[in-house]
Amino acid sequence: MANRFMRSLLVAAAIGIPVALLAQVPADTPQVKALVDSALRAAGPEWKEAATFFCSTEDQVNAMKILPSATVNDLEGQRAEPMKVFDNLYFVGQKAVTTWAITTPDGIILIDAGYAARVDDTLVAGMRKVGLDPANIKLALIAHGHDDHFGGAKTLHDRFGTRIGMSAQDWDFIQPKPGQASEGPIPARDLVLEEGRAVMLGGTSVTPVLIPGHTPGSMGFIFPVKDGARTYTAGLFGGTVLNPARRLPIANFQEYLRSVDHWRDVTGRAKVEVELMNHPIMDGLFVKLATLKSRKPGAPHPLVIGTASFQRLALAQSDCMKAQIARRGAG
Ligand SMILES: [Zn+2]
Ligand SMILES: [Zn+2]
Repeated sequence: MANRFMRSLLVAAAIGIPVALLAQVPADTPQVKALVDSALRAAGPEWKEAATFFCSTEDQVNAMKILPSATVNDLEGQRAEPMKVFDNLYFVGQKAVTTWAITTPDGIILIDAGYAARVDDTLVAGMRKVGLDPANIKLALIAHGHDDHFGGAKTLHDRFGTRIGMSAQDWDFIQPKPGQASEGPIPARDLVLEEGRAVMLGGTSVTPVLIPGHTPGSMGFIFPVKDGARTYTAGLFGGTVLNPARRLPIANFQEYLRSVDHWRDVTGRAKVEVELMNHPIMDGLFVKLATLKSRKPGAPHPLVIGTASFQRLALAQSDCMKAQIARRGAG
């Protein structure tokens, strides 16, 4: 018991949870504990923080104050340096919510458009800072239909003629429901993205993978990134983390678990070895970007983690989701 408590304190210290909050968390059943242990084993040292987050209880998630609802108006606290990450990939966004810009000879593909209110001060300003012209944004592929990802899409379309792509399910999902205010400016229905059907621009293909759960039509994307003479395959999981603080029906968690396993399968077969997210709050992105900034010529690229490591993260995510489902008594 004392051991377990000490271990909780260490985990709390590692991810910055106030220790007092842990005392309120009910003890996990042996079944849940075994799943969490399995997730942490799969995660290994490099994904420990991510797995701890994926396996968090509702109280622990709330204490972290890192969810979009807690960050939406925190412009200064969320400010992140835009940067070139690969020869054809740029990070432009905020700490908790990112936009990725893929450059091609025929224009730019964005993955996500960020909040509507952040188009000028974050997206457009960030792109200009790294030498990209927002007028060249030909496509914005929206990973899922929440306004921290699609909010800027209508402005991009109106201003730059950007084509907007989303899954059929999430095009439906973002339409205002009777009696409910819409989440953000709704772009006109445009490109419908389909599982496995690559979107092409300037010789670059971006392949969508359907991963519902967080929304009915969340998507991940697989695409090539270039570093000098080398080309690697990147996988961007766009369905974020389904954490217990959202209090979604258990069916969403079960659907999300199937999606995580589907993602593991597809990215394994595609030999994905670069890990990206649209909520990089748990994957150590900013540590890797800092390493990249001071990288010596010829040194390995810090975002190229290899296929085994990529798969271990996905496995940890899967085990944590099983633990979340078991905590809800539906394991
Ligand atoms: Zn979301
Ligand atoms: Zn989001």
